[in-house]
Amino acid sequence: MLGLMQKEPLLISSLIKYAALYHGDTEIVTRTIEGPIHRYTYRDLHARSKRLANALTRLGVGQGDRIGTLAWNTYRHMELYYGVSGMGAVLHTINPRLFPEQIEYIANHAEDQFIFVDLTFVPLLEALADKLTTVKGYVVMTDREHMPADSKLPNLHCYEDLLAAESDDFDWPEFDENTASSLCYTSGTTGNPKGVLYSHRSTVLHSFAVCMKDCLGLSSYDNALIIVPLFHANAWGIPYAAAMCGAKLVFPGAKLDGASVHDLLKTEQCNFSLGVPTVWLMFFQHLDANPDIDLKADIKLERVVIGGSAAPRAMIERFWNQLGAYVVHAWGMTEMSPLGTTGTLLPKHAKLSDKERFDVQSKQGRVVYGVETKIIDDDGNELPRDGVAFGNLMVKGPWITAGYFKGDGGEILDGDGFFNTGDVATLDPDGYMQITDRAKDVIKSGGEWISSIDLENAAVGHPAVQEAAVIGVYHAKWQERPLLICVKKEGQEVDREQMLAFLEDKVAKWWLPDDVVFVDQLPHTATGKLLKTKLRQDFAEHKLP
Ligand code: ADP
Repeated sequence: MLGLMQKEPLLISSLIKYAALYHGDTEIVTRTIEGPIHRYTYRDLHARSKRLANALTRLGVGQGDRIGTLAWNTYRHMELYYGVSGMGAVLHTINPRLFPEQIEYIANHAEDQFIFVDLTFVPLLEALADKLTTVKGYVVMTDREHMPADSKLPNLHCYEDLLAAESDDFDWPEFDENTASSLCYTSGTTGNPKGVLYSHRSTVLHSFAVCMKDCLGLSSYDNALIIVPLFHANAWGIPYAAAMCGAKLVFPGAKLDGASVHDLLKTEQCNFSLGVPTVWLMFFQHLDANPDIDLKADIKLERVVIGGSAAPRAMIERFWNQLGAYVVHAWGMTEMSPLGTTGTLLPKHAKLSDKERFDVQSKQGRVVYGVETKIIDDDGNELPRDGVAFGNLMVKGPWITAGYFKGDGGEILDGDGFFNTGDVATLDPDGYMQITDRAKDVIKSGGEWISSIDLENAAVGHPAVQEAAVIGVYHAKWQERPLLICVKKEGQEVDREQMLAFLEDKVAKWWLPDDVVFVDQLPHTATGKLLKTKLRQDFAEHKLP
């Protein structure tokens, strides 16, 4: 017998309709690419998203058509989130930090019909336009005054002109909630990037999760600085969840340096923010360089979500000790919309000392309702949830991909419908998950596994170390041994012996790196992760002492 409840489809347009109706006055603030701060409200966002949907219709865009964006975090990008998906087309957020050949590949693979581009990335597209075979035209996300004078992009439009020509009248269409809403390609550190195609249903369900207190707890009380780029795994679901709960949003535009982030946190008095560890490193560098900053007056942060790469324990401690901000360590991936685990606490943690609580926070967080999780060994046997055994992390759920766009990669789920994350992790009885490595980065020393992430975390705890990476290098007896590669903080000194002595009581003796080298900088992927494939190439010939 079926239930007798209404079958209202879960559509992205319902989020912005709700926000405009019940949080109509709540602000969305942007540091624009052109310079000035722009402020408007959810009511304005809704009206302009409808204008955009009218403009897209006039350009001939239909349901299912892919619309590319090469853009920073701004209100105009948000309008595309709602205008494009709301009308039934597919928003394809392209990561501008990818290599030009990758951008060419994914725009062609996605068969983008139009590309909306921020002024910053016009030259990048001009160099590629000849090779983008499906794109019918380009829209520069600015006003007439700032349009590039002699751009070589064919069929070029000005965003504000397009919107000015339309009315706010647009009825969001109703369709199946399983309709594709947006597309995001994985970074593709090995092989070509693959497309993850989200649906309206997966997006709305994921938004409910983001608003749960035991997940990110986003609510109308929050005033959130979104540093994680809108082109990165759909900015961790915040653009949708914020409309669901009416959170105030602050967008940093193109300026992600420490001083600009500090400035927005201060002027908007944000209580919540999200970003990858690298941006927070830049923020703390800025604080170090300006010791006269009045942190109490400037920074009202209560919660900071850090994910994308492991949040170093030293960063979690510093946010708490210096700024009184609780770090919610989160883990997920593009294939998971992206959230899988978030670092919330349980009642039993209430009496922990700060130090004990930092131990809990350093894990990648607790499994969120909606994500089924298990760890398995290489033969597919399930391993115990005891917080000790570690194995391949497998996930299943309504906001997790069932297959890549156009069937790339073939069948990707196991016989039970689980997706292999490629991460190696422990799970404990409370659902806390701890990543020990990417499967391909794990260091195999004499048949035992050493966690490169644990070693990196310990190394950045040294006061003179800015960033650290650990890779396995060839060893005649043990097959592989860890090599620690560090970047020193400006003006600070530390040598190999001091580094090893520092690590001695922090990791198992047989995990201690065989060697330590210092470099000026470490290579990163387009989403700010350590590019270990490059490090392994660079240090392939490194002779361990
Ligand atoms: P992107 O490169 O766009 O961030 P991916 O989906 O390629 O997204 O990255 C997902 C991977 O990032 C995860 O499988 C995991 O290896 C890593 N990751 C994400 N969050 C964390 C975290 N908190 N700690 C450690 N690794 C993380």
